[in-house]
Amino acid sequence: MKILILNCGSSSLKYQLIDTEGEHVLAKGLCERIGIDGRFQHTGKTEYKADIEMKNHTDAIRIVLDALLDDDHGVLKSIKEVNAVGHRVVHGGEYFSKSVIITEEVKKAIEDCCTLAPLHNPANLSGIKACEELMPGVPQVAVFDTAFHQTMPPKAYMYAIPYELYEKYKIHRYGFHGTSHKYVTQRAAALMRKPMEQLKLISCHLGNGASVCAVEYGKSIDTSMGLTPLEGLAMGTRSGNLDPAIIAFIAEKEKKTVEEVENILNKQSGVLGLSGVSSDFRDIKEAEMHGNKRAGIALDLFHYRVAKTIGGYAAAMNGADAVIFTAGLGENSGDSRAAICEYLGYLGLWVDSEKNNVRGKETDFATDESTVRALVIPTNEELMIARETAELLA
Ligand code: ADP
Repeated sequence: MKILILNCGSSSLKYQLIDTEGEHVLAKGLCERIGIDGRFQHTGKTEYKADIEMKNHTDAIRIVLDALLDDDHGVLKSIKEVNAVGHRVVHGGEYFSKSVIITEEVKKAIEDCCTLAPLHNPANLSGIKACEELMPGVPQVAVFDTAFHQTMPPKAYMYAIPYELYEKYKIHRYGFHGTSHKYVTQRAAALMRKPMEQLKLISCHLGNGASVCAVEYGKSIDTSMGLTPLEGLAMGTRSGNLDPAIIAFIAEKEKKTVEEVENILNKQSGVLGLSGVSSDFRDIKEAEMHGNKRAGIALDLFHYRVAKTIGGYAAAMNGADAVIFTAGLGENSGDSRAAICEYLGYLGLWVDSEKNNVRGKETDFATDESTVRALVIPTNEELMIARETAELLA
């Protein structure tokens, strides 16, 4: 089955065409600056780059389909070869605990969730509507970032606020990165040669956005992001957890609106705000090596919070069989993995420095004596979306 995977952001679109037989990526690429001017990058039979005007997601998807059919860099003879489209949808609210085939009701529910993810869900919907227009009759599937966490119990997903507010506005913890946490925990079970039903796993997705998830016997029972992806760890530009009173405090002192403060917490905080250097961990590490103290604090705080969250989840599950590291930083930075694992000796996890000297490759880097495994597992959200889409169609 050939499945087109689309990940629509507000001004970008990432895509992959995956053949589920053998799980090969046939083509992939990126549209950027949609609605501004338009930049296109495609890898199929050959590579192709161009500045092409893209007024909206429909334009972008039309360009993607043309590239897939192109004689030189395309990989398809006819668009009818695409069996289905799998969309990454960020927020499924309380509606979706698994992936679904897109219908009118599904679109309505995704629209309802726009208030919970105002930056993401409208873009996801645009992508869906564009595909309906450009590829009529091709089944479309929505795979939600939040769905995997719908198994969390009330003690994990509720906030301690008046119950009426929860009922009225559905304010509770939803969690994100679900497709990634699901993929890497399934891979972990395969690598450990144990059924999911016997494993307590802690998955650390550490990229620009970062979250930790406790997966007990195959189910997410807690995760660090909440109503929005702002909760939890410190991230590239997001503050993560803080005293909620700080919002009013900054608003008053800096004469800013609540929206402006929220913007600071989303875009100017995290390791960027702390270090003053960059949101990219590579730049911060470089700065730290040259003696930048604030960069050092940012890194220490980041690692410390990840370690504390792992500790919390080990407590929640009364132990853990493995800690998994994935996404940009988790997959590529042995330094950060080692710094986080420094805190985990009490769990029975010690790092084998030689094995930890690895990037982007599935590895167990715990010492042989460790009773908790430490795994690097490169995430593959697109493949997970392709699998779920194929399963639904079957
Ligand atoms: P997202 O998908 O959330 O944008 P990624 O998972 O691609 O993010 O992760 C991006 C982050 O990974 C970058 O900010 C960068 O700091 C970090 N990263 C990637 N490679 C390395 C590396 N070799 N060392 C340290 N950090 C890295």
